[in-house]
Amino acid sequence: MQRAIEDLSELQKIDLEVFRIDTQRRELPDKLADLKTHLDRIYGIIDRERKQLAEDDKYLAELQQEVLLQNELLTKSKGKMAQARNEREVNAAQREIDMIKGAIQVREKEILQLLETVETLKKSIGAKEEQFRELQEGFQTREAETKRQIDQLDSEREAHVAQRAAIEKRVPRETLSLYDRIRRRKPQAMVEVIGGNCQGCHLQIPPQIYNEVQRGERVLQCPNCTRIIYWRPVAKNQPAENDRSA
Ligand SMILES: [Zn+2]
Repeated sequence: MQRAIEDLSELQKIDLEVFRIDTQRRELPDKLADLKTHLDRIYGIIDRERKQLAEDDKYLAELQQEVLLQNELLTKSKGKMAQARNEREVNAAQREIDMIKGAIQVREKEILQLLETVETLKKSIGAKEEQFRELQEGFQTREAETKRQIDQLDSEREAHVAQRAAIEKRVPRETLSLYDRIRRRKPQAMVEVIGGNCQGCHLQIPPQIYNEVQRGERVLQCPNCTRIIYWRPVAKNQPAENDRSA
C-alpha cells in the first residue's frame, strides 16, 4: 500500500507539472494576441488619420485653385474699372472687385486654418508611426520568445509524459483509474492528511477514517472532497510541528 501511495505521489508530481505546462502553454499565445490587438488598433488610427490627411490635402488644393481663379477674375474686374466710361460703370466694377476680394479673403482664411489642421495631423501620424514601429519591434521579439518558450514547454511535457508512462505501470489499475477520475475535476487529486485535516478541502476527517488512513492498508478518499488521502508519519529526525524544545 505504502508503495502505491509513493508511486501515486510521484505520478501526481508529474501531472501537476504537466498541468502547469498546459496552463502556461495556453496563456502564452493569449498574451501575444493582446499585443497584436493593441498593434492593430494603433494601425487603425494611423490609417484613419492618413485618409483624413489625404482628404484635407485634396481640399486644400481645391481652395488654392479657387483663389487662383478669383485672382484672375479680379484682374479682369480691375481692367473693367480702368475702362469704365461713366460713374455707373465705375460703381459696377467696384462692386465686383469688392465681392471678389471678399471671396478671396474667406478662402485664404480657410486655407490658413486647413494648413494648421494638416500640420497637426502630420505630427500626430508621425508620433503614432514611431509608436507603432517600437511596438512592432517589441511584438516581433515577443513572438520569437513565445515560440522558443512553447518549444521548450513542449519538450518538457514530452519528457514528463514518458516518465509518467513508466510509473503508471507500477500503480494498480483500479487505483490509477480512481486517481485519474478525480484528477479530471481536481488537479491535486491526492492529498495528505495532517493532524486529522484533509489538505485538499481543509475539513476534519472522521476519526474512524483517520485511524484507517494512518494504518495505510488501503486506498481511502476524503468523504467530503473525494480526493485520495494519505498519511505520513512524522520522521524521527524531524521535530514535530508543535515541538519547540529544539
Ligand atoms: Zn477533503
